Amino acid sequence: MYEVAIIGAGPAGASAALFAAKAGKSTLLIDNDKGMTRRGWYENYYGIAEIGGPDLVETGHKQAVKFGAELVAEQAVNLSPSGDGITIETESGKTYEAKHVILATGVLTDLAAKAGVETKDGTEPRIKTVIAVNAEGKTNIGGIWAAGTVAGVSVHAIITAGDGAKVAVNVISELNGARYVDHDMLKA
Ligand SMILES: Cc1cc2nc3c(=O)[nH]c(=O)nc-3n(C[C@H](O)[C@H](O)[C@H](O)COP(=O)(O)OP(=O)(O)OC[C@H]3O[C@@H](n4cnc5c(N)ncnc54)[C@H](O)[C@@H]3O)c2cc1C
Repeated sequence: MYEVAIIGAGPAGASAALFAAKAGKSTLLIDNDKGMTRRGWYENYYGIAEIGGPDLVETGHKQAVKFGAELVAEQAVNLSPSGDGITIETESGKTYEAKHVILATGVLTDLAAKAGVETKDGTEPRIKTVIAVNAEGKTNIGGIWAAGTVAGVSVHAIITAGDGAKVAVNVISELNGARYVDHDMLKA
């Protein structure tokens, strides 16, 4: 069983995976590469003067994989609570189990709704429905969290990436039983 599985590898999901894997958690990242991020050109991402969507996505994937996240090209089609975790079924018929699942599915809430995850009206332009989460990113179903556009945050890459990181830190903290901080020192 994975400690953390993330569905969706845009800025929200890949950022969550990066944090979870870097914290030493066994991390699965499932993505079907149909997100919105590749279509954009970014000049408002702090610390990066300008970057195209494909580069932003590919760099994020490489960062997550570098720290040990397992990235699989799959479409998740079903989620169901099982024992002390969540079972994820994919279109190819594979199943994966994880203690915690973070939904980072961008504009799509179909998978969440099918699993009984509560949704609500979105507030952002063109985002009709989002997953209802609390301040930590928890949904109404134990072990299922949500981050990024699908969790209703402002539709900007740096904000969705930050939200993915925030939710991952909350998941890691829950797994550890203590607040988690990831700070590296500048190398001399
Ligand atoms: C044309 C355009 C221009 C933009 N320009 C800017 C800009 O200049 N500045 C800015 O800050 N923001 C911009 N944005 C917005 C920005 O791209 C988004 O806010 C942000 O990147 C969304 O990240 P996300 O991770 O929430 O969603 P996404 O990047 O959409 O990622 C969701 C991922 O989940 C995957 N997924 C969904 N369902 C499943 C499933 N069932 N199984 C497996 N995978 C699944 C998708 O394939 C996708 O990879 C722009 C967006 C567009 C479309």
